[in-house]
Amino acid sequence: MKIILTGANRGLGIHLVKTALERGHTVLAGVRTIQEDSPINLLKKQYPDKVYTYFLDVTNEESVATAAKLAAEDVGSIDGIINNAGVLTERGKIIEELDFENVKFTMDVNVLGPMRVMKHFLPLLYKGKKKTIINISSEAGSIHNAYGGDFPYGISKAALNMFSVQLSRYVKEKDIAVHAVHPGWIKTDMGGENATGYPEESANGILDILEGKIEAKSELGFIDFKGQEMKI
Ligand code: NDP
Repeated sequence: MKIILTGANRGLGIHLVKTALERGHTVLAGVRTIQEDSPINLLKKQYPDKVYTYFLDVTNEESVATAAKLAAEDVGSIDGIINNAGVLTERGKIIEELDFENVKFTMDVNVLGPMRVMKHFLPLLYKGKKKTIINISSEAGSIHNAYGGDFPYGISKAALNMFSVQLSRYVKEKDIAVHAVHPGWIKTDMGGENATGYPEESANGILDILEGKIEAKSELGFIDFKGQEMKI
């Protein structure tokens, strides 16, 4: 499969790239910085024919459009999209302390970001074969399990879940699976050291879902990385 992935240079993203390459897929990696010794470049050296890198800041529509144009020239079609890039701002802040620039920024990255990616990459996905879209969500976006904190992050992931449902209806006739996936609480910069899960394990589960090896057990498409239903 040919898979486009945002936030590909660290955290869950780089583990998704590594796992996808080990499984023989081609990865189109969206990154914000490309340095000689960056993790994605090291993988590019290891898998020169299987890794394409593009400057892709999900808040910058021009960068998304340009990445899609270059990807069309490079590979012609794609079979999977993983919207992985995300931010968690205002962690632990009470409402009275919220900085609305950060609130807006969170929505821009976590909600508008995947929408921009869809706008520009869907035409390429339509040309693919076994087509799947995965939006990396979070249990923090579950209205059912909402807790009274991390306000912008929670509402952004709830909105992303809604976008996933809308998207699945929108592409219904096109034979495209759409999932919003909670990757677990994992040890990354965002998840922190106390997290109980490992990005390697989540990446494996997410790739299983993408490949259709794990059946998603949810009518509305919100699942964890093992395919188990999450409550919207
Ligand atoms: P990290 O903070 O470790 O990594 C975030 C990634 O998002 C980086 O690759 C970063 O790129 C990228 N990113 C941030 N802003 C932008 C942007 N504007 N454009 C493009 N890329 C951007 O987070 P994780 O790897 O832990 O998170 C991955 C996903 O998993 C996120 O969507 C997150 O919400 C979700 N998640 C994570 C959990 C956890 O426990 N870790 C739990 C539940 C969900 P750069 O390197 O350029 O900064």
